[in-house]
Amino acid sequence: MSSKALRMSTLFLRTLREDPADADVDSAKLLQRAGYIRKAAPGIWTWLPLGLRVLDKIEGIIREEINGIGAQEVHFPALLPREPYEATHRWEEYGENIFRLKDRHGADYLLAPTHEEMFTLLVKDMYSSYKDLPVTLYQIQTKYRDEFRPRAGLIRGREFIMKDAYSFTVDEEGMRKAYMDERGAYERIFTRLDLKYVPVFAMSGPMGGSASEEFLAPMPIGEDTFALAPSGKAWNVEALTTPEPPVEDYSDTPAAEKVPTPDAMSIDNMVARANADHPRSDGRQWQASDILKNVVIAVKHPEDADHDKPWRELVVVGVPGDRVVDMKRLEAQFTPAEIEEATEDDLKAHPELVRGYIGPMALGPQAAARGVEHPIRYFVDAHIAHGSAWFTGADEHEVDYYNLVYGRDFTADGTVEAVEVRHGDMSPDGSGPLSFERGVEIGQVFQLGLKYSNALGLKVLDQNGKAVPVWMGCYGIGVSRVLACVAETHHDDKGLAWPAVIAPAQVHVLATGKNAEAFDAAEKLVAELEDRGIEVLYDDRKKVSPGVKFKDAELIGVPLVAVVGRDTVNNGTIEVRDRDGSNSEAVAVDAAAQTIADRLAALLDK
Ligand code: ATP
Ligand code: MG
Repeated sequence: MSSKALRMSTLFLRTLREDPADADVDSAKLLQRAGYIRKAAPGIWTWLPLGLRVLDKIEGIIREEINGIGAQEVHFPALLPREPYEATHRWEEYGENIFRLKDRHGADYLLAPTHEEMFTLLVKDMYSSYKDLPVTLYQIQTKYRDEFRPRAGLIRGREFIMKDAYSFTVDEEGMRKAYMDERGAYERIFTRLDLKYVPVFAMSGPMGGSASEEFLAPMPIGEDTFALAPSGKAWNVEALTTPEPPVEDYSDTPAAEKVPTPDAMSIDNMVARANADHPRSDGRQWQASDILKNVVIAVKHPEDADHDKPWRELVVVGVPGDRVVDMKRLEAQFTPAEIEEATEDDLKAHPELVRGYIGPMALGPQAAARGVEHPIRYFVDAHIAHGSAWFTGADEHEVDYYNLVYGRDFTADGTVEAVEVRHGDMSPDGSGPLSFERGVEIGQVFQLGLKYSNALGLKVLDQNGKAVPVWMGCYGIGVSRVLACVAETHHDDKGLAWPAVIAPAQVHVLATGKNAEAFDAAEKLVAELEDRGIEVLYDDRKKVSPGVKFKDAELIGVPLVAVVGRDTVNNGTIEVRDRDGSNSEAVAVDAAAQTIADRLAALLDK
């Protein structure tokens, strides 16, 4: 199969010497300077010929791997009616992130941010029996999200390209298998693209979330932080669980003691007060980590089985005094509810919450034991060890407890992940201390369970003729974002440096000098390469200096460069080298095409 060379004399391309003023990351600078993309509006990009070639190749690799696990490609419109998104509440839940519009008759439409609803309805429309399943469908399609802050070029766009796949299975086991198949395809895709990735656990909390992993490409410009264990396992911060701390022996801990502690509203003041008034028997100083800080949180529940409208609940969470509450992590524990800090009015409505002196004895199981009906629920952070003794509020103004022991004097309604994780905290798998890195989310695999099939009534008849809801999974890859991430991780200060599998061409042939003989030799080489099916970018521009051609080659980033010029005329050789100038060799004109083919094969094999 022959392949027609791209000739730079006619290629629709203008390279730029300067970085575009508003480009914030290297990939955005270089993709614009090298003529792959142009900005149309904030977060909205035009694809130029070179950019489209790379995009096509990335899509090709994705198609191969996703087709390889038996998924079938379809294609949905981007412009969709409101109703399906209304049925799943996402019309509202997406908030300002959706582009909404009206047609001439006043009907509501949206530009789809993702397509779960449409795939669910399509399968509902066409399938009705367990015999039709399993099926996995996917598309590579344009998505729209009105991101608050488009940034980093293609990495966070408002229009972007996504591969989204959806699996439909008759049972949970089928869903898990489909999930693992998709996950395997992701690993092969990112490996083929030479994009480093870390699968990060992204479970949505212990209260009934389903399994999900995000694939993050580690890089400093990433907006996502993930926690990495020495075992190599990784979690996003919301999904991190704290291993249960060892039980503490309280046999020698004195009985709890209620003590007046004036002027001890803050943690610092409490520490100072304790050190002044109540030196410890073990000789060490009191510190913030000895204090049990009780934080009042308002939980905003959606309507549920017991409530016919959304409802608000106050809860108190006990956390070690040296740690701060992480509202996002805590909120994940209460999904689908949202949380916020309690207001002045919340506190006023509950006299048992004495500002600055809130403690566990007025709350949860302790209050229930005294006959209080519907006491405020009390939770402890996962760092609070059974048997640990605390300095904490006694629910009276300017009175605190010393030696209030968890498991002896008080218990809780549950344990939650409430505080910020720190560098050095023990990893959930116990393999050692956590460290933190930044990354960009390039894909996500998600076990959806029955959420969409229940909301949209997707059922099939099972073996016994009973209608059962279909188990679903959804799987996204940010195709345009992936392209930018490869650029972000494959460049130097001179330009892009594509992996051979997705470069816009496989070899960049430069005809240099003014000598017609050199141009003739270059034409011959290009023709030979075309015959071999090698993709050539051919710099055949007549009035452009060698210096400019070399610079453009470095900027554009084709992995192999062949220079046909003075040495060809004088010595009968063509210089073949890698994009970064390394592995340079002078090859006899007649052997050049073969050398290039061999070197290319080696690069493609990597
Ligand atoms: P993020 O947290 O980065 O906003 P997300 O979790 O909202 O992403 P998903 O809904 O999981 O995104 O979409 C699937 C994939 O689409 C993501 O893994 C990501 O690679 C890509 N993607 C999401 N938003 C954008 C965007 N604004 N621009 C480019 N790609 C995006
Ligand atoms: Mg995601």
